[in-house]
Amino acid sequence: MVKQPEGSNARRYSVDTELVTAGRDPQRFDGFVNTPVVRGSTVLSPTVADLEGHTGRYTYGRRGNPTLEGLEVALAGLEGGAGVVLTPSGLSAVSLALLSVLEAGDHLLMVDSAYQPTRRVCNEILRRYGIETTYYDPLIAGGIADLVRPNTRAIFLESPGSQSFEIQDVPAIVAVAAQHGLFTLMDNTWATPLFFRPHDFGVDISIQAGTKYLGGHSDLNIGTISANDRAFRRVHLTHGDLGITVAPEDAFLAARGLRTMGVRLARHQQSAITVAEWLAGRPEVLRVLHPALPGGPGHELWKRDFKGASGLFSIILQPTPKAAVDAFLDSLDLFGLGYSWGGFESLAIPFDCSSYRTATRWAPGGPGVRLHIGLEDPADLIADLERGLAVLATAR
Ligand SMILES: *Cc1c(COP(=O)(O)O)cnc(C)c1O
Repeated sequence: MVKQPEGSNARRYSVDTELVTAGRDPQRFDGFVNTPVVRGSTVLSPTVADLEGHTGRYTYGRRGNPTLEGLEVALAGLEGGAGVVLTPSGLSAVSLALLSVLEAGDHLLMVDSAYQPTRRVCNEILRRYGIETTYYDPLIAGGIADLVRPNTRAIFLESPGSQSFEIQDVPAIVAVAAQHGLFTLMDNTWATPLFFRPHDFGVDISIQAGTKYLGGHSDLNIGTISANDRAFRRVHLTHGDLGITVAPEDAFLAARGLRTMGVRLARHQQSAITVAEWLAGRPEVLRVLHPALPGGPGHELWKRDFKGASGLFSIILQPTPKAAVDAFLDSLDLFGLGYSWGGFESLAIPFDCSSYRTATRWAPGGPGVRLHIGLEDPADLIADLERGLAVLATAR
C-alpha cells in the first residue's frame, strides 16, 4: 500500500533495468541483495508517544511490511500509476477492485469475454449488494456509449478476452467512460504491464493475476491492483478496511519472479508465435486465435496498442468429436492438462465458452483448445503437437 512519491512515475531506467533494480534496498538489509521475508503481526514502538503518533514506518503487519512494500514499490513503477495494493489471488484483486468503485444502486458494464470467475463476482456477489451488471460485446468499441445508463458507474475490460482472445478498442471505450465520468478497470493479466500499460491509455485501475507471469513458476497465487490518482485512495481504503493482506513468502516469490519477467516473457512470446504459426498451417486446425498473427482477429488493434504478446493463445480445431480431441490432449507429453498458466511449463485445456457468454454467441465452428507455451524448446513442443495431431486423426 505504498503511495509513490510525487513525480516518481518518470522512470529513471529502461524497463529491463527497472525489473532488476526496483523495490530493493540492500543497504537496509545488511547488504543482502533481496528484501528478506519479514514475518510479523505486531510492530513495537519505543514509547507511547511513538505508538499513538504512528511515528514508525510500519504500524501493524496487516497494514504494511517490508517484503510486501518492496514488491508494491517495484510494481507501482512498472505500472506507472499512483500506487499498488497486493491481494491473495488474481480473483480477489478483481473483486476488491470492483468493490472499491461500486456501491448499491450502481450499474456495471462488464466485458462478455471476461475470465469466467469474474462473472460470478458480478452475478453472485455484486448482485446481492444491489449492483446490476450488463455484459457487453468485447468488440463494441465506442458503441458502448449506447449501454451507459444514468446510474452506470464503471466499465470493466479484459483484453484479450479469456479463452477467445478478442482485442478490445481500449482508447474508444476509455473515451466514452471519460465523457460520462465512469471508472475504468482492466484485467491485464495476459499482457502484463510489460506489453500493455493500462494507465497510459487512461484506464483507472489495472489488475493482474500475479499468479501467472509475475510469479512465473506455478508456485503461488497473488493478485495486484494498480490505481491512478483518481482511484488509488478508494482502492487503498477498501483494501485496508476489508483486511486484505498477502503472506510475505508469496510476496517474496512474486518479487523473485519479477526480476526475470522480462526475459521469460520475451521467450514465451517468441515460442508462442513459432508454435501458433506452425499450427496455423495444419489441416486439423480451423483457426488460430493469437492476436500477434497477421490477418488474425484483433491483430490490427493489438499492433496499434500492445508492445508484445505473451505465451497464451487458443486454436479452433476442425469439427472433431470430443473423444478425438480428448485423445489428442491425453497423448501430449510436454503439455500438462491444468488450469492457470504463466509458469515455465506448457499447458493445454479444452474450452467452450458457449454456456456462459450472454451478450455474444460463441460458435467458432469447432472445438477450442487453449495452449500455454512454456520455456521448453519450441521444436520439441511442435514435435509433441505433431504426434498428438496424428493421434487425433486416428481417433477421428
Ligand atoms: C488466472 C486469472 C485470474 C485469477 O487469478 P487467480 O490467482 O487464479 O485467482 C484472473 N484473471 C485472469 C485473466 C486470469 O487468467
